[in-house]
Amino acid sequence: MIKRVLLVILTLLLLLAPSHINAQSDISISNPACHSERSEESHSAQDKLSEAPFAMLRTTSGDPSLWLRVTTEQADSGIVVLNSSVEVHFPVALIFNLEAESDVDIVSARLHYQVDKMNYAQVITEGWADFAPASRIETSWVWDMRKSSLPPGAAVVYWWTIKDAIGNEVETSPSVIYFDDNRYHWRNLTEGDITLFLYEEDDSFAWELMMACQQGLARLTRDIGTYPERPIQIYVYASAGDLQGAMIFPQEWTGGVAFTEFGIIAIGISPDKVDWGKAALAHELTHLVVHQATFSPYGRLPTWLDEGLAMYSQGELDPSFRAQLDKAISEDRLISVRSLCSPFSSQPEKAYLSYAESYTLVEYLLDNYGGNKMLNLLTLFKQGNTYDEALTKVYGFDVDGLDALWRKTLKNPVVQAGAVWLHPALIAVLSALATSLALAGALALEEWTWHRSCSKLS
Ligand SMILES: [Zn+2]
Repeated sequence: MIKRVLLVILTLLLLLAPSHINAQSDISISNPACHSERSEESHSAQDKLSEAPFAMLRTTSGDPSLWLRVTTEQADSGIVVLNSSVEVHFPVALIFNLEAESDVDIVSARLHYQVDKMNYAQVITEGWADFAPASRIETSWVWDMRKSSLPPGAAVVYWWTIKDAIGNEVETSPSVIYFDDNRYHWRNLTEGDITLFLYEEDDSFAWELMMACQQGLARLTRDIGTYPERPIQIYVYASAGDLQGAMIFPQEWTGGVAFTEFGIIAIGISPDKVDWGKAALAHELTHLVVHQATFSPYGRLPTWLDEGLAMYSQGELDPSFRAQLDKAISEDRLISVRSLCSPFSSQPEKAYLSYAESYTLVEYLLDNYGGNKMLNLLTLFKQGNTYDEALTKVYGFDVDGLDALWRKTLKNPVVQAGAVWLHPALIAVLSALATSLALAGALALEEWTWHRSCSKLS
């Protein structure tokens, strides 16, 4: 009980800290209006696990462009929609069913749908139901997730346009369907922008994970000034195996993945690995928030910055990473910053070193130049500046200049103690080392999942 009270107090402190810092920030990527909404939400945050129906707790983007007002012209068309429903077959398909009748033959039924996610433009996709013209039809359109998949919990708005043989047309009102993983009985825990969905019964486990998320988010806001662009939903499966069962291509998954544009993270955490889970959650949460803040069609972040920010938000660098860094410094075989702009090596030792260097690069920039400049740097990447251009505009040095300055700070490395934490992708590497399995691609997985999450759904 005392532990619960302390967690609540700590949560409130963490939620108050970011709003104070935001008030001082002169650069903001997020919409200011969203900040005030967030602060109101934080005061009314749920403080207990809830089992309310999903429909009651959904946190969709609220983007008015998504929730289209479609005029229903059913009254005079002579076409009557008898039934419109959706079957969720997670994770493989959504099946949109339609029954309709008219005085004359119905000749076409088009499904229109729109996915609730960040997008560069409003995208409405169409699917044509297959049936023989008849005065009464019963048909369906199948969204095969093997072709373009959705993460658990994704929201889809849909409506039908139905035509008959003499040109009458009816358009149904839009409805929302959630692509829920209904193989489990999910409970939820909400604090501010974050909702955790779990089916594990242990409340203290849920709270520990939530606190790790709030701490990661608070640190990100305090140090850099980035905020989630939209509410974040985190689906915590009770094991990596359960998570893989949620995927169509499970071999392509590690322990978790962030779907940036959806604001959704899916991760497998068993209660006996809560320390790993807390770190992995905060890490993925950082990727998600940073990717949302820099969401644009113009380019991408250098890998050292992306991974460095995610590791930095975890706190102190783990000793195992620090040891790799110190060894490389003493042997004069540091990887250049320019090389670290590209995806990291799949060789374990180089990968360790890449993550360690990335952490210290971000630490160097934040410690010496502050969070406002980091936010400025992210903004310039979002606007499409090259790595050299963005660094030069903000700091006055390019990638090679950063390399030279940063190396000077590494002359006398100090090994620091810290909580044991391993990067999600490195878990795969370590297990592979232990079992002599092939390592090919293991470290590229997280990179791959980012590409995947950025791919077009329609
Ligand atoms: Zn990462």
